[in-house]
Amino acid sequence: MNEGAPTDGSSGVHRWPELHPTTQAAFNQVLWRRGLPRTEIARRLGVSRTRLTAITRDLEEAGLIVEGKREQRSSTGRPAEMLHAVTTAYQFLGLHLHGMEVIAALVDLDGRVVWEDSATLSTETPDELVDVASRFLRSATESFRVAGVAVCGPLARVGLDSAAARIRAVDDALLDRFEAEWGIPLWVDDDVVALTAFEQWPQLGEGQDSLVLISIGEEIGFGVVTHLQILRGARRAAGRFDHVPVLDDGPECPLGHRGCLWSVTSTRAIQQAVPEASSLAEIAALAAEGDPLATAVLERAATGLGTAAGHVANLLDPHKLVLTGESHTVLGGRIEAFTTALRRVHLSDEEVEVAMPDYDFVEWARAAAALALYRVLSSEFF
Ligand SMILES: [Zn+2]
Repeated sequence: MNEGAPTDGSSGVHRWPELHPTTQAAFNQVLWRRGLPRTEIARRLGVSRTRLTAITRDLEEAGLIVEGKREQRSSTGRPAEMLHAVTTAYQFLGLHLHGMEVIAALVDLDGRVVWEDSATLSTETPDELVDVASRFLRSATESFRVAGVAVCGPLARVGLDSAAARIRAVDDALLDRFEAEWGIPLWVDDDVVALTAFEQWPQLGEGQDSLVLISIGEEIGFGVVTHLQILRGARRAAGRFDHVPVLDDGPECPLGHRGCLWSVTSTRAIQQAVPEASSLAEIAALAAEGDPLATAVLERAATGLGTAAGHVANLLDPHKLVLTGESHTVLGGRIEAFTTALRRVHLSDEEVEVAMPDYDFVEWARAAAALALYRVLSSEFF
């Protein structure tokens, strides 16, 4: 699967070029907007036409932009010289760790997946995880130009996943060893932070400066963006909102709470509440057939999620709420229960925009790759 691979034989490991911050910002604008006229770039960055000429020359020499055909701009009626990002110029590798399973995805500068692979770890050591990253990198660079790598997993959550301890054990010495060997950076981060970066990155050009992402799975993760920055917290532990109380007399969670969000909305809790079903999909199918227990359990999950979302909206007033992970399955046909609960808690008459993007198994790895891209291109937002 080498679609989009460079044809000039320049595949391999390539560090992102050292660009002046204004030059990098100009490139990001062109990338986010999927092409911009020269005049518009100069206006957005507040630079002169002469300065912009130098900037675009640097970007052209770095192989990052090309000039497109003149487009008629309706606002001025004059033709404009369009600049386009070369989105295949560099790729970014992301690995997602869940239990012993690692999924890898390689993305272009526009976030498109161009290559993917998977592996199963055989030991509990962090060294093996970094070795697997090296192996994926070696194979991806046979066809692509890779500029950064990120490994993501359940780093910041309370963590029932055995992967949490392993990913936390990847220390600076291991990261330094990787960078010394390959000449490009390796980052380790929380997977919900990566998913948040993936959602926020394309919106930076649109002026969306805040976002809350809620990921539903065996754990429930919260990713927060305020003032264009991903909120990390003083101890890199921000976003632990999964045990907030949402129901007066709910089931007990592993931490001993009654009626917390985890106890009603995590996929593990939903499955415990419908023991005769073997999967979340089966519970959703039972509910669709009118099974009273499955229906009640999923309605409760949707209500719990809406309640927590209402508290989040009160605290942060984000531009947008993004529901991901298993949200489609949990909320399918039950969006009304979610919305009703959200409105009951939310202390504002303003609508909160809610998005539920499509999601598949490679999405976490794609998000990890997007995190590497985000960190290379716009570290100031991180
Ligand atoms: Zn709890």
